[in-house]
Amino acid sequence: AALRSALRTKVPLRAGQMCYSSSVPTVKLFIDGKFVESKTSEWLEIHNPATNEVIARVPKATHEEMLAAAESCSRSFHSWSETSALTRQQVFLRYQQLIKDNIKELAKAITVEQGKTLADAEGDVFRGLQVVEHACSITSLMLGETLPSITKDMDTYTYRLPLGVCAGIAPFNFPAMIPLWMFPMGMVCGNTYLLKPSERVPTCTMLLAKLLQDAGAPDGTLNIIHGQHDAVNFICDHPAIKAISFVGSNQAGEYIYERGSRNGKRVQSNMGAKNHGVVMPDANKENTLNQLVGAAFGAAGQRCMALSTAVLVGEARNWLPELVERTKALRVNAGDQPGADLGPLISPQAKERVCSLIQSGVDEGAKLVLDGRNVKVKGYENGNFVGPTIISGVTPEMKCYTEEIFGPVLIVLEADTLDDAIRLVNKNPYGNGTAIFTTNGATARKYTHEVDVGQVGVNVPIPVPLPMFSFTGSRGSFRGDTNFYGKQGIQFYTQIKTVTSQWKAEDATLKSPAVTMPT
Ligand code: NAD
Repeated sequence: AALRSALRTKVPLRAGQMCYSSSVPTVKLFIDGKFVESKTSEWLEIHNPATNEVIARVPKATHEEMLAAAESCSRSFHSWSETSALTRQQVFLRYQQLIKDNIKELAKAITVEQGKTLADAEGDVFRGLQVVEHACSITSLMLGETLPSITKDMDTYTYRLPLGVCAGIAPFNFPAMIPLWMFPMGMVCGNTYLLKPSERVPTCTMLLAKLLQDAGAPDGTLNIIHGQHDAVNFICDHPAIKAISFVGSNQAGEYIYERGSRNGKRVQSNMGAKNHGVVMPDANKENTLNQLVGAAFGAAGQRCMALSTAVLVGEARNWLPELVERTKALRVNAGDQPGADLGPLISPQAKERVCSLIQSGVDEGAKLVLDGRNVKVKGYENGNFVGPTIISGVTPEMKCYTEEIFGPVLIVLEADTLDDAIRLVNKNPYGNGTAIFTTNGATARKYTHEVDVGQVGVNVPIPVPLPMFSFTGSRGSFRGDTNFYGKQGIQFYTQIKTVTSQWKAEDATLKSPAVTMPT
C-alpha cells in the first residue's frame, strides 16, 4: 500500500478540468526518473470493474510531456548502451527479486483495476517475472558469432547491439505480464524504453516502474506516458523510436504495424485470437473437460490464449452435458473475494458487446445451453459480470464464431473426423493458439504437424511458451517477423554489426593496390 500511495497524489481540482471528486487519486507519468503529475486538462476515469466506482484518473499526456519522455530516452541511450552487459544483468537480477518480494501488492493492483481474481493476478505477475528472469541471461543471449581464419590472417565476428529508443503499447488484460514482455527484454539489450500501458489498468505498470528504479535502472532508461490514440500516434511517428512492441486488438495492431512500419520502425504486433480446443473421443474425459472449463472461463475469458472454441470430434459430442455441469460449478464474484473462479469484464461496454454476441448466436440458430447473461453477484450489483456461457451447435459462418468474443463464453462446434477439425481450424483467420486432447500419439502428431497455428498444446489447454522459447502466434494473430521474448525477442531488440579484420605479419604487406573484388 505504501508503494502504491507513493505513486499517486491527491490533486485539487483546477478550473477547466473535468469535474471529479478531489479524493480520486491520479496516476502519474514517469519521466526522466521522476513520477510527475501531468499538466493535461484531459483525464480518463479508471473504474473498478466489480463495482464501476471510479478509483483513479489517468492523464492523456500532453505533447510536451510525451516529447520530454522521448527526449529522456534519447539522452539516456548512450550511457545505458555503454553500460556493461554485466551491470545491466545485475539491475535485472535485483529487479526479479523485487518483483518476487512484491508479488501480492502487484496482484492487488491488478485485481482492483482489471477485475481478475487475486490468484490469477499473481499468475499474471509470475508469467512476467519469468521473462525478467530470462532477461537475466543476457550475457549468453546476446553473444555474437565468430569464424576465425575466414581467409588468410582474416577473422570475422559479429556483435549484437541495441537499436536505440524502443517503445511498447500494452493491452488491459495482463497488466503485469505483457509490459514485462516488453521493457525488460528491450532494456537488458541496452535500449532505452518508452512505455504506454493500457489506459484502463496503468497502476500495476507504475508499480513495476518504481521497482525497476529501486533495482538501479538509471533515470531516463524507462519512461512512461499515458493516453490513447494521440500517445499511440506519437510513438508511431517519433523519429528517435526505432522499434515498437504492440499487444492488443487487431484494429489497433494492424494500424500500429502499418503506421510504425511506414515510418521505418521495426514493429511486432501480437493481436486477437480464436483458439480452438479439439476434443478427440479417445481423450481422458475428466482431465479434458476440466482443462476446457478452466481455459475457457478463467480470467472471464479475457485472455488472448483463452480456449474459447471447443470442437467435439465424433463421439466426444456426447460430452456436452457433462461440460455444462462442470461449468455450472464455477463461482462468479469480485476478484478479491475468496473462492471466486472468475471476476467481471473490464467495462460495461465489454459486457454489452459480449451479451450481444451471445444473442447473435441465438438469433443465428445456435443453442444457448448455459446462459450467464443475467448472473447476479451479491454485493456487486453494479459490476460488469457475465456468468459462464456455453453456446452449442455453432457453425463457422455465425458471428459468434467469426468474431473474438473475449468474455466467459465457450462456443461448441462438432466435427466428424480429425481431418474435418483440422480443416476448420486452418480456415479460421486467427493463428494464436490451439490444443488437442487425445491419448493417441499418432493423432497428436498429425494435429501438431498439420494445424496452421503458431502455438499448439497437446493435452495442454493454454500453451503459452515459457520465455526461453518465444510467443509464436501466427497468421491473423500476428504481424511482424520476430516474435516476443526468447531468442526472437533478443533478435527484435538488437541489430548485428559484422567485423572482418585482418592482422598480417609485416612480411605479408600488400605491395600494390588490389582492384578486383576480394574473394
Ligand atoms: P486494444 O487494442 O483496445 O488496446 C491495446 C492498446 O492499444 C492500448 O494501449 C490502447 O490505448 C491502444 N489502442 C486501442 N485502440 C486503439 C486504436 N484504435 N488505435 C490506436 N491505439 C489503440 O486491446 P485491449 O482491449 O486492451 O486488449 C484485448 C485484445 O488484446 C484482445 O483482442 C486480445 O486477444 C488481444 N491480446 C493479444 C495478445 C497476444 O499476445 N496475441 C495478448 C493479450 C491480448
